[in-house]
This record gives sequence, structure tokens and C-alpha cells, in this order.
Amino acid sequence: MEKFNKVQDKLIDLGASFIGCSDVEAYLPESLKKVRYAITVGVRLSDFVIDQIDARPTYTYFHHYRTVNTLIDQITLRGQIEIQNMGYTAMAVPASQTVNDLEDSYSGIFQHKTAAVKAGLGWIGKSGLFISSKSGPRVRLGTILTDMKLPLQSDTTLNGCGDCRICVDSCPAMALTGNSWFEGCDRSHIVDAKACSEYMNRNFKHIGRGSVCGICIRVCPKGFLNKNIDLLQGRR
Ligand code: SF4
Ligand code: SF4
Repeated sequence: MEKFNKVQDKLIDLGASFIGCSDVEAYLPESLKKVRYAITVGVRLSDFVIDQIDARPTYTYFHHYRTVNTLIDQITLRGQIEIQNMGYTAMAVPASQTVNDLEDSYSGIFQHKTAAVKAGLGWIGKSGLFISSKSGPRVRLGTILTDMKLPLQSDTTLNGCGDCRICVDSCPAMALTGNSWFEGCDRSHIVDAKACSEYMNRNFKHIGRGSVCGICIRVCPKGFLNKNIDLLQGRR
């Protein structure tokens, strides 16, 4: 516990907005099961930047998205080194990386949101995004996998989407099914990843190389609990 506290303090010092711990052995491929404990690192995005997204992403948002990912990679790398120096095995999972030889070509080696949900930090929304209990979808996540035993969170957060379907109705690609997430469900139950990706490539190539959109982050009321809602619905 003392060692974990030291790691946690370092991650916060380096810029993490929040930290969570979980056991993700059941979700790992055989080759990664040795490092079954996950430290989730979350960084809060800029409200000002997100609020400027309208019917398309902004250049600033694209830059922000990439620099926050770089920050997360730096935080998790430094955490990984710290844990390794304590005599444990650790691996920083890339903040944003798709692996084309996987069955699902829109996925990375490990889903950060799986660990974040198991850590009780939030839920998966109808947008398919991780929705933090405190900041909604306005966060980016990273993960350190390790064999260092961690203080685990036993309670999971209840799905807070309820009857809301603002992201579903705002998606210009009509890529969201409106279904609610449940543990073990296939991603296609929530989102048509191909439709989302192709829409971004077709319409936002000149802004974010076709890799960002941000509309479903911008409109989610869980991200701006105390602000006036300016819905993007109907602007397709
Ligand atoms: S990123 Fe854009 S296109 Fe993709 S699901 Fe969200 S709103 Fe739809
Ligand atoms: S916009 Fe509504 S339905 Fe979509 S993720 Fe946010 S709370 Fe859930």
C-alpha cells in the first residue's frame, strides 16, 4: 500500500486528474495475464476547447486531443518506470493506438475504459465513450498494467445514461444504436465503429486527419452538469 501511494502521488504530480485501480485479468489476452492489475490514469479535457466544437471538430480540439494523449503516455511511462524500479513488472498501454492485425481493426491492445469501469470511476455511455462520474466524457484515459498488488475498488458505478439519448440523436454519422452498454456486450451493440470512422474520414480529414470528431463528447450533459445545454441536435 505504501508503494502504491508513492506511485499514485507521482502520477498526480505528473498531471493525472484522477487514478483508479482494478483487476482486469479476465479481460487480458494470455500473453498479458501476468500483469493483471490495472492503474487507470485520467486527464480532464479543457471545457473551453470542447465547448467550441459545433457540427465539426476544431483544429484546437485536434491539437488538444493529441497533446493530452502525449501527456498521458508520459505519465504512464514514468509510472511504469517507478513501479519497475520497485521490483515489479509494469507496462504502460499506449493512450491512443489501433492495432490493425487485431480482429477488430478499430481497437487497441487493451481498452482503457474496461479498467476505468472496473475501478468504479464511471460507466460506458450510449456514445460508447467512458463517462466519468465526475467529468462525463470530457476525459482521456491511460492504463498501467502491473503485477504489483493494488488496493481494489469493489463497487462499480451504475450506468447513468437513463432515458437520455442526446449523443445518439446528435451523431451525424448515425453510428450510435441507442442501446445501453452491459458488461460483455459487443461494441457493435452500442456503436457502428466503421460508420463513425468513415464519417470522420470523409468529413474531417482536413481538420483532424479523420481521426477525431468530438460531437458526442461535446453534447453529453454529464460533461457540463452546471452549464446551459446548447444541443447540436438536428444540425446534420
Ligand atoms: S465521434 Fe462523431 S461520428 Fe463518431 S459516434 Fe461520436 S458523434 Fe458520431
Ligand atoms: S449524451 Fe446522454 S445517452 Fe449519451 S452518453 Fe451522455 S448521458 Fe449517456
